[in-house]
Amino acid sequence: MTRAFNFSAGPAALPEPVLRQAQEELLEWRGTGASVMELSHRGGEFMEVAARAEADLRSLLTVPDEYRVLFLAGGATTQQALIPLNFAAPGQAADYVVTGHWGRLAVQQAEATVAVNLAADTGPERYVDVPPVAQWRLSEDAAYLHYTDNETIHGVEFEGVPDAGDVPLVADFSSSIASRPLDFSRLAMVYAGAQKNLGPSGIAVAVIRPDLLERTGQPRAPILDYREHARAGSMLNTPATFNWYLAGLVFRWMLDEGGVEEFARRNAEKAALLYAAIDGSGGFYRNDVAPRVRSRMNVPFHLHDRGLDPLFLREATEAGLIGLKGHRALGGMRASIYNAMPVEGVRALAGFMDDFRKRHG
Ligand SMILES: *Cc1c(COP(=O)(O)O)cnc(C)c1O
Repeated sequence: MTRAFNFSAGPAALPEPVLRQAQEELLEWRGTGASVMELSHRGGEFMEVAARAEADLRSLLTVPDEYRVLFLAGGATTQQALIPLNFAAPGQAADYVVTGHWGRLAVQQAEATVAVNLAADTGPERYVDVPPVAQWRLSEDAAYLHYTDNETIHGVEFEGVPDAGDVPLVADFSSSIASRPLDFSRLAMVYAGAQKNLGPSGIAVAVIRPDLLERTGQPRAPILDYREHARAGSMLNTPATFNWYLAGLVFRWMLDEGGVEEFARRNAEKAALLYAAIDGSGGFYRNDVAPRVRSRMNVPFHLHDRGLDPLFLREATEAGLIGLKGHRALGGMRASIYNAMPVEGVRALAGFMDDFRKRHG
């Protein structure tokens, strides 16, 4: 069996030690006579898995004690619909900064329940930059300001947490959570679907400051209410237990590898390697994003001759480099280089790109 270097954007590569441990434990988990996915979520064994995962995520991200950590079904998209329902009063405005596809979709999910104010939208300039905060058109008293830390398709990443005044910041970190240290002092909520950097699809994490969590929001069923989820320890109904367990193994792996500081170092090295291969190709490869805000997680690029795309993908697969086809919205290629992608994988890709250019340039 050979595992390729997998550059898929999501569901994305998982760390091999995690998969091996899950494989070993699959039929019988810790002497219980059953697999972890066959145990009651309310039983002591699973409660321990859940508590351990939360504690590890808190330590990984240095989440302040008073923030609540939720493990939720429905992916990131469902959170985008729940955020306005939970945090905005009927008719209240919420500010959205749109720097790519996912910010645009967050607006679509919110429009039914909140008066969306587009504080900034780089769509007309094809999502290649993050405008400075001074240019954002903020509303007088928005319920919150939503932005996307890293745009997974367009490859645009915020340089840090923006300083937008007192408005509570709500940030989609689906594709950048745990890739670098995170400063919660300005963040009221961070959420992420797990399938990029934290685990398998089917579960999302949300970290919420108590003052935001306790907002009245709008009439909603208990299952759509973050306060209820927090009170029930994310077990209001049956959680995605196997995904929760697997995410827990990934958290443990990240801590064992040295935590987010170490991943930030590796991710910077990987991104530098890849952008150097693109920028040093004499125009054979191209990335259009303003260098200041180029993503260290998702690197979209185009070949100068689109006609070479199928050959590039075929030869890459033959070289053990998979998942490089770009999103249909952009075409071209995209290399996603999350925490589970080792530096050697990116070195192999950069080497392949160089070689391909020499043969076809
Ligand atoms: C993948 C992704 C989403 C959507 O996640 P789902 O779990 O499929 O709902 C939202 N935002 C960002 C930034 C993403 O990368």
